[in-house]
Amino acid sequence: MGLIHKRYLSGARVYICSECRTHFTTQETLTSRNFQGVHGKAYLFKQALNVHEGEEVDRMMQTGKHTVKDLSCMSCGVYVGWRYVRAWVEAQRYKEGQYILERQAISVMSIQCSEGEGEGEVRENGD
Ligand SMILES: [Zn+2]
Repeated sequence: MGLIHKRYLSGARVYICSECRTHFTTQETLTSRNFQGVHGKAYLFKQALNVHEGEEVDRMMQTGKHTVKDLSCMSCGVYVGWRYVRAWVEAQRYKEGQYILERQAISVMSIQCSEGEGEGEVRENGD
Protein backbone atom coordinates (compact mmCIF):
# COMPACT_ATOMS: atom_id res chain seq x y z
CA MET A 1 0.00 0.00 0.00
CA GLY A 2 1.00 3.59 -0.47
CA LEU A 3 2.68 3.04 -3.80
CA ILE A 4 1.31 5.23 -6.50
CA HIS A 5 3.79 4.44 -9.22
CA LYS A 6 2.33 2.51 -12.08
CA ARG A 7 4.11 -0.79 -12.54
CA TYR A 8 4.44 -2.86 -15.67
CA LEU A 9 4.24 -6.58 -16.15
CA SER A 10 5.23 -8.93 -18.91
CA GLY A 11 4.29 -12.44 -19.83
CA ALA A 12 2.34 -14.60 -22.22
CA ARG A 13 -0.92 -13.59 -20.56
CA VAL A 14 -1.08 -10.25 -18.78
CA TYR A 15 -4.45 -9.07 -17.45
CA ILE A 16 -4.98 -5.37 -17.99
CA CYS A 17 -7.66 -2.72 -17.48
CA SER A 18 -10.01 -2.88 -20.44
CA GLU A 19 -10.57 0.88 -20.16
CA CYS A 20 -7.03 2.25 -19.97
CA ARG A 21 -4.78 -0.81 -20.36
CA THR A 22 -3.08 -0.45 -16.99
CA HIS A 23 -1.40 -3.73 -16.06
CA PHE A 24 -3.03 -5.63 -13.18
CA THR A 25 -1.66 -9.14 -13.00
CA THR A 26 -0.48 -12.21 -14.93
CA GLN A 27 -1.58 -15.77 -15.47
CA GLU A 28 1.07 -16.96 -13.00
CA THR A 29 -0.97 -15.57 -10.11
CA LEU A 30 -4.32 -16.87 -11.36
CA THR A 31 -6.00 -19.10 -8.78
CA SER A 32 -9.37 -19.76 -10.40
CA ARG A 33 -11.57 -18.74 -13.31
CA ASN A 34 -14.74 -20.03 -11.67
CA PHE A 35 -15.85 -17.04 -9.68
CA GLN A 36 -18.91 -14.89 -9.92
CA GLY A 37 -18.62 -11.13 -9.84
CA VAL A 38 -21.21 -8.39 -9.66
CA HIS A 39 -21.27 -8.19 -13.46
CA GLY A 40 -20.84 -11.85 -14.36
CA LYS A 41 -17.77 -14.04 -14.59
CA ALA A 42 -14.81 -13.18 -12.42
CA TYR A 43 -11.29 -14.50 -11.85
CA LEU A 44 -9.43 -14.99 -8.58
CA PHE A 45 -5.77 -13.91 -8.45
CA LYS A 46 -3.12 -14.12 -5.75
CA GLN A 47 -1.77 -10.71 -6.67
CA ALA A 48 -2.81 -7.54 -8.41
CA LEU A 49 -0.96 -4.29 -8.98
CA ASN A 50 -2.08 -0.78 -9.80
CA VAL A 51 -5.43 -1.09 -8.07
CA HIS A 52 -6.91 1.20 -5.46
CA GLU A 53 -8.49 -0.50 -2.44
CA GLY A 54 -11.65 1.00 -0.98
CA GLU A 55 -13.13 0.78 2.51
CA GLU A 56 -13.60 -2.54 4.25
CA VAL A 57 -17.16 -3.79 4.02
CA ASP A 58 -18.91 -6.97 5.15
CA ARG A 59 -20.74 -8.73 2.36
CA MET A 60 -22.90 -11.81 2.28
CA MET A 61 -22.07 -14.06 -0.64
CA GLN A 62 -23.19 -17.48 -1.79
CA THR A 63 -20.30 -18.93 0.20
CA GLY A 64 -21.02 -16.99 3.39
CA LYS A 65 -19.97 -13.78 5.01
CA HIS A 66 -16.82 -12.05 3.77
CA THR A 67 -15.07 -8.82 4.62
CA VAL A 68 -13.89 -7.27 1.36
CA LYS A 69 -12.50 -4.09 -0.15
CA ASP A 70 -13.74 -2.99 -3.53
CA LEU A 71 -11.01 -2.42 -6.10
CA SER A 72 -10.78 0.23 -8.75
CA CYS A 73 -8.19 0.87 -11.42
CA MET A 74 -5.52 3.19 -10.04
CA SER A 75 -5.28 4.96 -13.35
CA CYS A 76 -8.83 5.48 -14.66
CA GLY A 77 -10.83 4.75 -11.50
CA VAL A 78 -13.19 2.18 -13.02
CA TYR A 79 -14.51 -0.56 -10.70
CA VAL A 80 -12.70 -3.82 -11.38
CA GLY A 81 -13.55 -6.19 -8.52
CA TRP A 82 -12.68 -6.69 -4.84
CA ARG A 83 -10.09 -8.09 -2.46
CA TYR A 84 -10.92 -10.58 0.25
CA VAL A 85 -9.79 -9.31 3.63
CA ARG A 86 -11.49 -11.97 5.73
CA ALA A 87 -13.57 -15.05 5.07
CA TRP A 88 -15.82 -15.89 8.01
CA VAL A 89 -16.40 -19.47 6.90
CA GLU A 90 -13.42 -21.73 7.62
CA ALA A 91 -13.50 -23.46 4.24
CA GLN A 92 -13.28 -20.12 2.43
CA ARG A 93 -10.15 -18.90 4.22
CA TYR A 94 -7.89 -19.61 1.25
CA LYS A 95 -9.38 -16.55 -0.45
CA GLU A 96 -8.11 -14.14 2.19
CA GLY A 97 -5.73 -11.62 0.68
CA GLN A 98 -6.63 -12.64 -2.86
CA TYR A 99 -8.12 -10.49 -5.58
CA ILE A 100 -11.26 -10.84 -7.63
CA LEU A 101 -11.12 -9.18 -11.03
CA GLU A 102 -14.32 -9.07 -13.03
CA ARG A 103 -13.96 -10.56 -16.47
CA GLN A 104 -15.76 -7.67 -18.15
CA ALA A 105 -13.38 -5.13 -16.57
CA ILE A 106 -10.17 -6.73 -17.82
CA SER A 107 -8.54 -7.66 -21.08
CA VAL A 108 -5.79 -10.16 -21.78
CA MET A 109 -2.60 -9.19 -23.56
CA SER A 110 0.61 -10.92 -24.49
CA ILE A 111 3.51 -8.72 -23.47
CA GLN A 112 6.92 -10.10 -24.29
CA CYS A 113 10.15 -8.57 -23.09
CA SER A 114 12.25 -7.77 -26.11
CA GLU A 115 15.64 -7.45 -24.48
CA GLY A 116 18.59 -8.47 -26.59
CA GLU A 117 17.24 -6.81 -29.69
CA GLY A 118 19.24 -3.68 -29.17
CA GLU A 119 21.02 -3.89 -32.52
CA GLY A 120 18.95 -1.21 -34.15
CA GLU A 121 16.92 -1.84 -37.25
CA VAL A 122 16.00 -5.32 -38.30
CA ARG A 123 16.87 -6.10 -41.88
CA GLU A 124 14.11 -7.58 -43.91
CA ASN A 125 16.13 -9.03 -46.75
CA GLY A 126 19.27 -11.02 -46.16
CA ASP A 127 21.53 -9.45 -48.77
ZN1 LIG B 1 -8.08 1.66 -16.00
